[in-house]
Amino acid sequence: MRAKLPEPLAPLGELVMNLRWSWNPPTVDLFASVDPKVWEQVRQDPVRLLGEVSGQRLEALAADPGFLERLNAAHAELQRYLTEPRWYQEQAQLGADSGEPLPASIAYFSPEFGITEVLPQYSGGLGILAGDHLKAASDLGAPIVGVGLLYRSGYFSQSLTADGWQAEHYPPLDPHGLPLQRLTDADGAPLKISVNLPEHRVLHAHVWKAQVGRVPLLLLDSDIEDNSPTERNVTDRLYGGGADHRLLQEILLGIGGVRALRAYAALTGEPAPEVFHTNEGHAGFLGVERIRELVQGAGLTFDQALHAVRAGTVFTTHTPVPAGIDRFSRDLIAHVFGAGVLADVPGIPIERLLALGAEDDSGVFNMAHMGLRLGQRANGVSKLHGDVSRSMFNGLWPGFEATEVPITSVTNGVHAPTWVARETAELGSGQVNDELWSAIAGVPAERLWATRRTLRAKLVGEVRRRLRESSLRRGHTVAELGWIDSVFDPDVLTIGFARRVPSYKRLTLMLRDPDRLRSLLLDPERPLQIVIAGKSHPADEGGKMLIQQMVRFTDDPAVRNRIVFLPDYDIGMARYLYWGCDVWLNNPLRPLEACGTSGMKASLNGGLNLSIRDGWWDEMYDGENGWAIPTADGVIDPDRRDDLEAAAFYDLLSTHVRTLFYDRGEDGIPARWLEMVRHTLSSMGPKLTATRMVSDYVERLYAPAARSSIRVLADDYAGARRLAEWRGQVAEHWNGVKVAHVESSGIGDTPELGATVNVRAEVNLGGLAPEAVAVQACYGTVDMDDVLHDVHAVPMRPLGNGGDTYRYEADIPLEQAGPFGYTVRVLPYHDLLTDPVELGLVTTA
Ligand SMILES: *Cc1c(COP(=O)(O)O)cnc(C)c1O
Repeated sequence: MRAKLPEPLAPLGELVMNLRWSWNPPTVDLFASVDPKVWEQVRQDPVRLLGEVSGQRLEALAADPGFLERLNAAHAELQRYLTEPRWYQEQAQLGADSGEPLPASIAYFSPEFGITEVLPQYSGGLGILAGDHLKAASDLGAPIVGVGLLYRSGYFSQSLTADGWQAEHYPPLDPHGLPLQRLTDADGAPLKISVNLPEHRVLHAHVWKAQVGRVPLLLLDSDIEDNSPTERNVTDRLYGGGADHRLLQEILLGIGGVRALRAYAALTGEPAPEVFHTNEGHAGFLGVERIRELVQGAGLTFDQALHAVRAGTVFTTHTPVPAGIDRFSRDLIAHVFGAGVLADVPGIPIERLLALGAEDDSGVFNMAHMGLRLGQRANGVSKLHGDVSRSMFNGLWPGFEATEVPITSVTNGVHAPTWVARETAELGSGQVNDELWSAIAGVPAERLWATRRTLRAKLVGEVRRRLRESSLRRGHTVAELGWIDSVFDPDVLTIGFARRVPSYKRLTLMLRDPDRLRSLLLDPERPLQIVIAGKSHPADEGGKMLIQQMVRFTDDPAVRNRIVFLPDYDIGMARYLYWGCDVWLNNPLRPLEACGTSGMKASLNGGLNLSIRDGWWDEMYDGENGWAIPTADGVIDPDRRDDLEAAAFYDLLSTHVRTLFYDRGEDGIPARWLEMVRHTLSSMGPKLTATRMVSDYVERLYAPAARSSIRVLADDYAGARRLAEWRGQVAEHWNGVKVAHVESSGIGDTPELGATVNVRAEVNLGGLAPEAVAVQACYGTVDMDDVLHDVHAVPMRPLGNGGDTYRYEADIPLEQAGPFGYTVRVLPYHDLLTDPVELGLVTTA
């Protein structure tokens, strides 16, 4: 429970409740000065600080003019941050002037949010990304509202048993002890959201709000008395339980989340979101709820509502692993929605709902497929992942080449003010912004090197502290742990590897040749030290075995000074690793890492990446900012592939990485190493930030989605009605659409580069109006099976018609050498689609 603060300290309460402090060091300093000893005891958790600091101390501070002055200054700075116009307000003004307004509100749904270690509502990269998205949106002034669940035990906390096995703990969190505020209605009663389930059960939830700078984050909590025990447990923990449990969580997130947003808007008068962004498929039912709203509230048909909803929905896919996609049995969905969520809702046939998640396996409902069908815009999270996603989901757009699949990519970024060490920021003005990256060029080498050493030394201290704690938990006594005082060395080349432990991330690849690793670690002249961390999903025995294998290796007294596994990887630990590691190692099985963000956080502090060219590193590696571990992509045998890639890793380490690190001038400084550090900070800083990412989302996805949405909703949903009617006609007549005849001229026996070919076609439209289709000439190279590749499409000009047969022509350039081919195709066309490819319908000659 929260202490009542003396009146002059009221601003302190506000500072604690706005998570902006988690990326604002001066506010953290202020908290520390409330009571430095208690601050350390409560592990830098400001809510606990206020709960545990003595009343006497608070009274003293309330009468301390120096403290009050700093408090009021911090409070005034927060108020300014929360209210002053920022990037988005400027853009919105420009947009309004040019008739292209930006959305007044954007909802961002995610199953996890990683904002600070004191709010442990995340398992890994997806959640940290969501947290960074909200923080950057706040910094930019983008009007985002986050929606998620409040898990009573978060993910889990990890410790190790004596023999190195992962143990999971689920200490329950008391939301009253977290930086959260429960939303209440006008009468002061907790706001309650309800969703119907089968057998007349109802799932209720309260809504908590975390304030992330300017951005509110709504978290639904089912652990309330109105619920029966099963429903109370729906939000027990993140990614726990079986399919039934997970489905209820996703229903609460998607369906309940939209209801929470509506209640929040009614309560605060905030505008309703114009764009809904689904971070991964788990929240996809938000589209179903918005369809229901329009069917029940506005009297639209299912098809009209579908078009209205799609226009304003953005779907981001995060996994290139088909097995990583969220799927349910179709029967389960049919039952829970048919007999529960939608039982009293006429106008939404369950068959139509099921069709949204249809895939090749007819017994399965696929959440990613639903995400793609409900979102008019979709993206992957790095360039390579965009490519992989277009291939992986090609089946939803049959008849098109993977390159034409309408899934774009926005490369992830990380929230620099959260992840950049103070010492790094002080290489510039102390502020973390784009000027910092340009200031790096002028920093003297000694200064840069001293900063790197300071950060490495901090990491060494943290490694020893955590290792001691873990060793005591594993049953050792203080008397046995003297050796820990000399674990790691602030002057030794330090490598970090920390992330979740799914098999594709290959935690133990470095153990492929244990003798070789040992000799690298223990080299008397040029030693290495490696810090490792990561949690395995509790149900993943294989992952836990990998951790055990790693821990056993690190337990060996011969190497334990140079390699450690630290349990309970979280934001609080991660920070020290990104600050202090010289090299950040990542060795996933390409191309299974969609993006990866930990290496970005290391880069922003001058760490160099040593990584397989996967995810973000595939597009950012430039030869001067780290090293690319060659991949054995084509090798089918996984063992052999691991051998080859591990060998390449050892070779790079021994011949390049450590050579450069230990190549010192007379001043003791590794000049060439530092040039790489400098280049990394200056060139990658601006590209890796979450503000770059969020501004990309605003410009490339949110703003266009809002414009599409306005167009379909205007005039009582006229656009949505028009689209649905046209879609119906297309469905009815498409079988009759035929390319009847194609001919060309100008393509002699030996076509010349630079010439053009005139292509003419006769097309039968089966009763569709010519405005309802796009006729395109497609050209590219042909393979031996006469299949077109590198397809370019150009629109064909109408030449007139005789009855239902329409004539078209186009001139296509001969741009490429090699076997050339062309064809003619017809696609459905409507001005409210983003692209004629969108519907996945095509008829080709
Ligand atoms: C950044 C981060 C991750 C994600 O790391 P990847 O490289 O994307 O696997 C996971 N956990 C924590 C605590 C992080 O800070």
